[in-house]
Amino acid sequence: MNGGNGASMAGYADLKRTIAVLLDDILQRLVKLENKVDYIVVNGSATNTTNGTSGNLVPVTSSKRVNAASNPQVATSTALKRREKTNTKIVGEDDGGKLFTPEEYEEYKRKVLPIRLQNRLYVSWRSPTGMDCKLVGPETLCFCTHRYKQHKTDFEVIPKDRPICVPCRVSHCQCKSYHYVPLNGTQPIRCRCKHFADQHSATPGSACNSCSKCSGFHSSFTCGCGQPAYTHETVVETKQERSAMGKPVGQDVPYAAMGGLTGFSSLAEGYMRLDDSGIGAPSVEFLESPVTNMDHPFLKAFQGPSSSAHISSQLPGSSVDAMQVSHVRNSKEDDMAYFEKRYQERLKKEKAAKQKGRGPLPSKNP
Ligand SMILES: [Zn+2]
Ligand SMILES: [Zn+2]
Ligand SMILES: [Zn+2]
Ligand SMILES: [Zn+2]
Ligand SMILES: [Zn+2]
Repeated sequence: MNGGNGASMAGYADLKRTIAVLLDDILQRLVKLENKVDYIVVNGSATNTTNGTSGNLVPVTSSKRVNAASNPQVATSTALKRREKTNTKIVGEDDGGKLFTPEEYEEYKRKVLPIRLQNRLYVSWRSPTGMDCKLVGPETLCFCTHRYKQHKTDFEVIPKDRPICVPCRVSHCQCKSYHYVPLNGTQPIRCRCKHFADQHSATPGSACNSCSKCSGFHSSFTCGCGQPAYTHETVVETKQERSAMGKPVGQDVPYAAMGGLTGFSSLAEGYMRLDDSGIGAPSVEFLESPVTNMDHPFLKAFQGPSSSAHISSQLPGSSVDAMQVSHVRNSKEDDMAYFEKRYQERLKKEKAAKQKGRGPLPSKNP
């Protein structure tokens, strides 16, 4: 009923901005906290002489982090790490795991960034109705069990052929192009052969590695949009192709393997996103069309005059007129005013109902 157009979108945009600011704040706090933990761990390991293997206390998240953490100048390493984090986002997997020298990094930026900003590819997992149920990001897993960022995501020239293939760059992986497979919560989904998606081969035909009766991966798992997973497809498209379909393309960013991510809401599943990357905001005609018998019982209960009479008959003494809720939203009203009005109406009604039924109500002073 809400999430409409025009004036009411202003409220939605405000909410989005608020959430963005909050998230930013949370992220900043997390970075501070992380730095503090690193500091404590490094200092602890340096002074802890009773424990001969001081290396144990250094976090082993990644070799890059350990390099920075073992730097004796801990105070300056905070700024260094922050720079490294940004650099890691830009470089992705292109440094092969060992850090670029500052010169290599500058050279890399000069070469890759213009290509990336111009030739970005958007990757999404699309339902048969055209909704992007999943926007693929750098960490999103492929059917081949590798992440999107481990695939070829930078193209000097965008291929002319469609579909565009995004092959895996992990050595010996047979994956010819990125292929998204949804998860069931945190678990991989099962094939009809009863084995998990990641037990199947990434070669064309996707045969099962764990049994011989499988004729290729096929799952009847149902996506949040209500359509079976196998009716969806992984779509790789250019900025032009995407904007031609009216889908958001976001801002040009220098980061590697951003795939389909264009904003905070990209992380939600398609049916929960109210922007046009999913089904889009419903049209005004759709929102203002009369409620029919085909509609959800909730809508019918709130809109039909016959049903509001039905509700009023449950409360003693209130007339149909008094029970009419102002469900016809004035387009010039903003969201808050609308809900405020609804709230005031409800208060009035409750008061009226209380006055009618005052007799049997217990009083505080007997
Ligand atoms: Zn792979
Ligand atoms: Zn792959
Ligand atoms: Zn199978
Ligand atoms: Zn199997
Ligand atoms: Zn879907």
